[in-house]
Amino acid sequence: METISDKFIKSLQDGRNVWLNGEAVDVTSNPNFTGTLATIKYLFDMFEHPSKQELIGFKSPKTGQYVHTAYLVPNSYEDLLKRRRSFEEWSQATDGVMSRLSDYARSRLTGWYAARENYRKYDEHFPGKIKNYYEGARDEHRMMCVVQRDPQINRSQVPLPDEKEAGLLRITRKTEDGIILSGAKMIATAAPYCHDLIVYPLTKLNEKQKDLAHMLAVPVNSPGLHIVCRESFAADSAKQMDYPLSSQYDEMDALIIFDEVFVPWERVLLHDNPEAIWQIKSDLASNSLAYHQAIVRLHTKLEFVTAIAIEIAAAIGADSYLHVQEKIGKLINQVQTISGLIIASESQGKVDSHSTFLPDFCYIETARNLGSTYYPRAIEMLQLIGAGGFIQLPSSMDDFSGPLSPLLKQYFKGATLDAEKRTKLFKLAWDLIGSPLGSRHQLYERYYAGDPIRNLAVQYHSSDKQHYKQMIEKYL
Ligand SMILES: Cc1cc2nc3c(=O)[nH]c(=O)nc-3n(C[C@H](O)[C@H](O)[C@H](O)COP(=O)(O)OP(=O)(O)OC[C@H]3O[C@@H](n4cnc5c(N)ncnc54)[C@H](O)[C@@H]3O)c2cc1C
Repeated sequence: METISDKFIKSLQDGRNVWLNGEAVDVTSNPNFTGTLATIKYLFDMFEHPSKQELIGFKSPKTGQYVHTAYLVPNSYEDLLKRRRSFEEWSQATDGVMSRLSDYARSRLTGWYAARENYRKYDEHFPGKIKNYYEGARDEHRMMCVVQRDPQINRSQVPLPDEKEAGLLRITRKTEDGIILSGAKMIATAAPYCHDLIVYPLTKLNEKQKDLAHMLAVPVNSPGLHIVCRESFAADSAKQMDYPLSSQYDEMDALIIFDEVFVPWERVLLHDNPEAIWQIKSDLASNSLAYHQAIVRLHTKLEFVTAIAIEIAAAIGADSYLHVQEKIGKLINQVQTISGLIIASESQGKVDSHSTFLPDFCYIETARNLGSTYYPRAIEMLQLIGAGGFIQLPSSMDDFSGPLSPLLKQYFKGATLDAEKRTKLFKLAWDLIGSPLGSRHQLYERYYAGDPIRNLAVQYHSSDKQHYKQMIEKYL
């Protein structure tokens, strides 16, 4: 019988234009995608596994089949915990390294679906369109990614760049059946593995920019849509021992070019409405559910870096030094801070006007904003603990079966580990701190949620400062 994962892999052979090294590639057979596809297959197979189904899924009210818990609209604290457990299960399977396995985008969609009636005032078709899309995506296990940013061509604001010159995604024509779009969007993480792109602008638009103010669910195989991949960081399977993360978890990032792409009206969720788009971008349900997933994953990833640091410190006998203990203490502090914020967001959760039980966004926002400095700092700690050990490595694990093997076993060993285990440990760490994949992850954690500087400024603007003001008032 065809499994969910078989169906998923087959569904990627849908005529999509995925470009890598100047060629259109089939992601189901191109070796740069094989390792990651195997990881996604492993995750999808959980839906077929009796001991995992309930952990990662819930039964669709329409089909009675298990679907991903990211689609669960939480109506209680227990539902929220169920969502958290499923995110933990998926992120622990890749130690938090794969971040866009769709659970983030699916959570966004679930939030918009739950709050859909708020947007009827902007477009009476919105609630129906989002309901149809949500139910189809949920029951067909559709993968999707969110892509918001305009291409980085000219970020200056004065003078306002010409829309076409600036590469902005805009409606060029409308027909009875839908709209035609041209322009580009960056960055779409995991786009080659997705079925749909959820597209809307990141920045606030004004009334003069109506042709940019749209929210769409675009099928990735739309004619004229090009997924232009960055260089692949995937190590082939022969290198799995040397690059355990790059060989399995390269999600890929891409620039999406729309060259006169047709999108049918049922996939045009909102259009020509800057105010509606700004409200939907700021939607509390969507933001709370999506970033709840993001910080659960962040927690797993920070734990992973901490685990490596502890193991490395012991392996080279550096764990006896006070400053190394202090660094590991800081790593543990970071993990526990995020853990505490997740728990606080859940326990302080509240039911909104649509009976959705949402985690408290203040704690979620704080954890998300901390992540942009916590992760690079964690990587720095790891470097300071392992030092030159990340470079004192044989070129390949295969060297241990070569003629120098007895000598290598003597000189590559650690204080607590034999040479092969020590080498595996340091290669794992190098894949996180020194490989192209590892560098990409530092950039990812800094920027995936937007510019961290502007995110903190938003927190400053949106927080209630009255309490702080009152504290000082008595001195004035
Ligand atoms: C690995 C990776 C994966 C990503 N995946 C996704 C994804 O799947 N979906 C998605 O939508 N996005 C994704 N992003 C993109 C992310 O949304 C952007 O990187 C982020 O919003 C920052 O924008 P930018 O990269 O265009 O930086 P820019 O805006 O070009 O910033 C460049 C510099 O200019 C400064 N600057 C620019 N404009 C201003 C301003 N108005 N005020 C003050 N300073 C300014 C910035 O602070 C920065 O120093 C990803 C990013 C990375 C790195």
